[in-house]
Amino acid sequence: MTSTILIVEDEPAIAELLAINLEFAGHRAVRAADAEEAIRLIQHELPDLILLDWMLPGIAGVRLAEKLRADERTREIPIIMLTARSDEGDKVHGLEMGADDYITKPFSPKELMARIKAVLRRRAPQLTDDIISSGGLKLDPATHRLWAVQNTADVALDLGPTEFRLLHFFMTHPERVHSRSYLLDQVWGDHVYVEERTVDVHIRRLRKALEPTGHDARIETVRGSGYRFSAR
Ligand code: CA
Repeated sequence: MTSTILIVEDEPAIAELLAINLEFAGHRAVRAADAEEAIRLIQHELPDLILLDWMLPGIAGVRLAEKLRADERTREIPIIMLTARSDEGDKVHGLEMGADDYITKPFSPKELMARIKAVLRRRAPQLTDDIISSGGLKLDPATHRLWAVQNTADVALDLGPTEFRLLHFFMTHPERVHSRSYLLDQVWGDHVYVEERTVDVHIRRLRKALEPTGHDARIETVRGSGYRFSAR
């Protein structure tokens, strides 16, 4: 699945190498040469993951990580720090400040891709192609198929593309209340302008699609707050 990855790196050769490898792996790479440019890009579009260089001119990488973690809109973005080999103290500090992982320069593209995959799997499972089972449903992102798990045989259910993404997000983030605006950011993409009531339309369609096996009850309305997927 294609993820948008923001590279914040002031050394052009390293930024270029990172972008080439990310695009080769099927991701979309966006580049910023410093923290200020990164902030502008993030205001425009939330990336799925950030590769953040520690030594940046102007605002340091650690300050940017802190800033992103303090803001509700950017709090959940996974961050992988890029550090120089000698900066042992920086690694500890960076992880304390909210980075999800770090990688030491120079690194192999293979190692970098493995780290990105591991961090996405942990922090943003809705962006991976892993099959997920939750609440009596089984969803396969790679083939876009959904089954209701039954004692005798699994029942295949039909979903539209938006309902599929919505259910995938719910199943990877169960038991939590998600506001309509948060669901729009996470499922539709935050740079897309859609009215909040669009969420209600797709929730109705999702429930209708899950009705035949009684799984529509998994999608709970939380009055005044939003929606929750109940796995139990
Ligand atoms: Ca640097």
